[in-house]
Amino acid sequence: MKDEEELKRKIVEISMRLYHKGLVVGTGGNVTARIPGSTYILATPSGVRKELLSPRDIIKVDMDGRLVEGRLRPTSETPMHAEIYRVRGDVNAVVHAHPPYCTGFACTRLPLGSPILPEAIVVLGEVALVEYATPGTRELALKVAEAAEAHDALILANHGTITLGSSLEEAYLRTEVLEEYARVLFISTLLGGPKPLSAGDVERIREL
Ligand SMILES: [Zn+2]
Repeated sequence: MKDEEELKRKIVEISMRLYHKGLVVGTGGNVTARIPGSTYILATPSGVRKELLSPRDIIKVDMDGRLVEGRLRPTSETPMHAEIYRVRGDVNAVVHAHPPYCTGFACTRLPLGSPILPEAIVVLGEVALVEYATPGTRELALKVAEAAEAHDALILANHGTITLGSSLEEAYLRTEVLEEYARVLFISTLLGGPKPLSAGDVERIREL
């Protein structure tokens, strides 16, 4: 119970940070965490602006996305989160956002594949580009889960981002670094094109 209350507070804190960093707007995006040692997930509810959330708004759902506890509705994107927890036993938190630079790449479907920033290489690893499927559908949830098996940072075509972590803090950090990486790639493309790091440089960074 104490764990749950602490997780609820942390979900609210992360939601506020997403909003204040411009990584979500309106009611977009969602944050979830697995309750340790259980098959339940705590999640931000549907239809509430992230900057107005309070811990009592956070809902508890099961692995099928069904409401277990809480007075608000689960987001339609809950199945996407649940499928990730199903395939990744090491993941305890998922952040889904609509950051503008990442979403720009998502809408042009240009991959975020150029190794230009050491921090992005270390924090994100390879970034997956998930094919488009209608938000809130089982089709999208399954496509996301398939990509999540081998990636911690995902771009959803024409939609936004998903990042995973062993904690809420780690999942959030990955969203922040992913957006910074997309922003720098965009700027360096405008400035004549980035000069990617060599395979040897990437190897040395990965060994750190
Ligand atoms: Zn979304």
